[in-house]
Amino acid sequence: MMQAQVFTLYPEIFPGPLNKGIYSKAMTKKLWSLKVINIRDSAQDKHKTVDDTPYGGGTGMLIKPDVLANSIDQNVNNGDRIFYLSPKGKRFDQKFAQDLSKEKSFSLICGQFEGVDERVLGTRNIEEVSIGDYVLSGGETAAFVILDSVLRLLPGVLGNDKSPADETFENGLLEYPQFTKPQIWEEKAVPEVLLSGDHTKIKDWRLSQSEAITRDRRPDLWQKYKKD
Ligand code: SAH
Repeated sequence: MMQAQVFTLYPEIFPGPLNKGIYSKAMTKKLWSLKVINIRDSAQDKHKTVDDTPYGGGTGMLIKPDVLANSIDQNVNNGDRIFYLSPKGKRFDQKFAQDLSKEKSFSLICGQFEGVDERVLGTRNIEEVSIGDYVLSGGETAAFVILDSVLRLLPGVLGNDKSPADETFENGLLEYPQFTKPQIWEEKAVPEVLLSGDHTKIKDWRLSQSEAITRDRRPDLWQKYKKD
């Protein structure tokens, strides 16, 4: 069973979208579990203060190092990877998701306000991870993105163990177009080859479509694909 831990100031929003369909089923089947930790529980003073102003000035507040470190020390097992969701982090991608799906347990720390005191990151061996080049108001939505992309890779979660393999990014290409019934819809027919029953031809068609779409939309992926 994979155990994910989330550190947040908003524990009530979890498991949120992860409590539906395949993921709630997978939780019942004990393929994964989620522990949500309220960072505020580790605040020491009677007001349960979690943030303070940045040294050197500037707008906004930072999560205090002592509070966050206490929370981590009480809840993370030695050796587990700890990630801080941060726009400055290493860019999260499908490869990153695959690596994480092999961990037995890991922790995600969601920032709020202007972020966290930098010293916690170093002293607790925390890896920074970003879900993209834009700024969110908090790490929670990023944690959902990471958990969603990792959990679907766990064996047994999708039901059909082969299904992640065909998808966009798995082979370095964007996915080919897909069609379902009716065969003719608004006068548009499904491509003939898909009705042929010829699996080699279908495979070739799909690959050429994938290649064309990737070349057109994502020159960065296309260059990498051609090199590998
Ligand atoms: N002052 C920071 C931004 C803080 S945004 C800076 O300029 O780098 C507030 C919180 O949202 C962060 O602590 C982080 O946890 C989360 N966050 C914002 N953008 C993110 C992104 N692209 N990926 C992951 N987490 C992000």
